[in-house]
Amino acid sequence: MDILRGIAVTPGVAIGEAVILEAADYRIPYRTVAADKVEEELACLDAAFEKSIAGIKKQAEWLSANLGRDAARVFDWHVGVLKDPQLRNNIETLIKERKVSAAYAVSTVMRNYQRRFMQMSDPLLVERIHDVQDIERRLLRHTLGDQTEDLAHLTKPVILVAHDLTPTQTARLAATKVAAVALDSGAATSHTAILLRSWGRPGVIGLSDFSTRVSAGDTVIVDATNQLVIANPNKETLQEYETRAARFGELTHELDELASLPATTCDDEAIHLYSNVEFPHEASIGTAKGAAGIGLYRTEFLFLRPEGAPSEDEQYEAYCEAIDGANGGMVTIRTFDLGADKYTQQRSYEQERNPMLGLRSIRYSLQNLDMFKDQLRAILRASARGRLRLMFPLISSLLEFRQAKMTVYDAMEDLEEEGVEVARDIPIGMMLETPAAAIQIKEFCREVSFISIGTNDLIQYLLAVDRGNERVSQFYTPSHPAVLRVLRDVVKTCTKSGVSCSLCGEMAGQPLYTMFLLGIGLRELSMAPANIPEVKKLIRLVSIPQTQRIARRALSFDTERQVTNYLRDETRKLLHDDPT
Ligand code: PEP
Ligand code: MG
Repeated sequence: MDILRGIAVTPGVAIGEAVILEAADYRIPYRTVAADKVEEELACLDAAFEKSIAGIKKQAEWLSANLGRDAARVFDWHVGVLKDPQLRNNIETLIKERKVSAAYAVSTVMRNYQRRFMQMSDPLLVERIHDVQDIERRLLRHTLGDQTEDLAHLTKPVILVAHDLTPTQTARLAATKVAAVALDSGAATSHTAILLRSWGRPGVIGLSDFSTRVSAGDTVIVDATNQLVIANPNKETLQEYETRAARFGELTHELDELASLPATTCDDEAIHLYSNVEFPHEASIGTAKGAAGIGLYRTEFLFLRPEGAPSEDEQYEAYCEAIDGANGGMVTIRTFDLGADKYTQQRSYEQERNPMLGLRSIRYSLQNLDMFKDQLRAILRASARGRLRLMFPLISSLLEFRQAKMTVYDAMEDLEEEGVEVARDIPIGMMLETPAAAIQIKEFCREVSFISIGTNDLIQYLLAVDRGNERVSQFYTPSHPAVLRVLRDVVKTCTKSGVSCSLCGEMAGQPLYTMFLLGIGLRELSMAPANIPEVKKLIRLVSIPQTQRIARRALSFDTERQVTNYLRDETRKLLHDDPT
């Protein structure tokens, strides 16, 4: 039994057979073969080795002729590995003794090999992991041919295990039978985690080398409620988890019954809960979970399509679909938040050294004005159809906000000249995600229609912790006293200035912080639809004076640990029977 602790993205329990997704989208099935087919698998392996070596030699020859012998030398090591009799023998033994497919044997042995490199202390040898992965991919290509990611054709629920998933791979999960996900990399507010959360099934990420510890077909338990994954559980553990999974199912069903009840505190204060969506069809999912509208539509996910950038008309259609799905509720469209870990890096010739501090979000849009204007035109056209607000991400200065706003008015004028109907009074707001904007909140309040606090970024910039890096995820916490104080001050200034203020970072969907957020005066929260029922349950159990007392106490602590412990105790008192 192998137990690992990671970071939960969506609570829940799932049990199933592991399916491993390799870096190049190869899905490795656990496939046994009949005794009389073992020879065929060995022949397939033989051919794969031969073709791989031939392919590498050809590449080396080309490099040698064009760039010199030294450049070609990097491939000598690859050929050396492929000719290593021990490696070959390990793969063949697995095929013969366990009667498994060549692909399964290659993947299992090569991942073991990778793991050994990971444990080495010499950084030069660790670097070799990429070469090992490259060799594995080559071998798999020659054993599996074109059988890349066919998760759509799974016939039973499985646990997907991978080193990492790209946002595109994550977005495709909705159409599969994958029951839960376990990933080596990732942190709580990375964009892959955000997509997993909107997918809504259990997931644990940041598991370091889990994908090298399991093989396809192994039984895996994902206990996202306790941030655990268990590979090859013993009989008692398996039985215990079967009971837990059933109990969890019942309790989530009970929570779902809250959907039609109002999010009102027990002293009758109305709290507005909105959903965060990445794809327009999710608008109706949020509505079904009891959301009053969309508090954050992350439009940049329109770029995840294989076709790339969406046209103005395609965007218009997506925005209209979101408006229709929100069923009369307010829809807040955020303009493209490209850059950092989303889209532009993979496509650029030279990657930025500090992408989180680089050409991202509104900066990117203002440097790509044609693209930005197309988006604004699509939003403005859709504004004639329903209740729409628009906001810009990552604003760090007033000049930037003014420039972005001017671009909206330019687009509006163009449309009006063309005789297209737009909502002239569309509210234009901003996301508060930088310490600079928090410090200048008073000035911003004079110019914005509304503020939406993006704690995912605000925390990373306040605490200087990369939100997507699992190695520093222990330093990334909303409980940090500095974060709590900034939030209190921002909300206070907005309230004083009469500017509507909401919070749409992942913190809004964490019941641990619900009472604190209400206590500092927030009345609008936007979160993944899956989080709405539980947050609503908590809201209905508290009174505003109670939350104010809790917020005051939370703000009195010096360390994040004290804050977390205190909030956990207070939340447990109210949600003692809760599964999440
Ligand atoms: C945030 O930063 O809190 C936010 C909601 O935006 P994103 O997670 O898309 O960066
Ligand atoms: Mg953000």
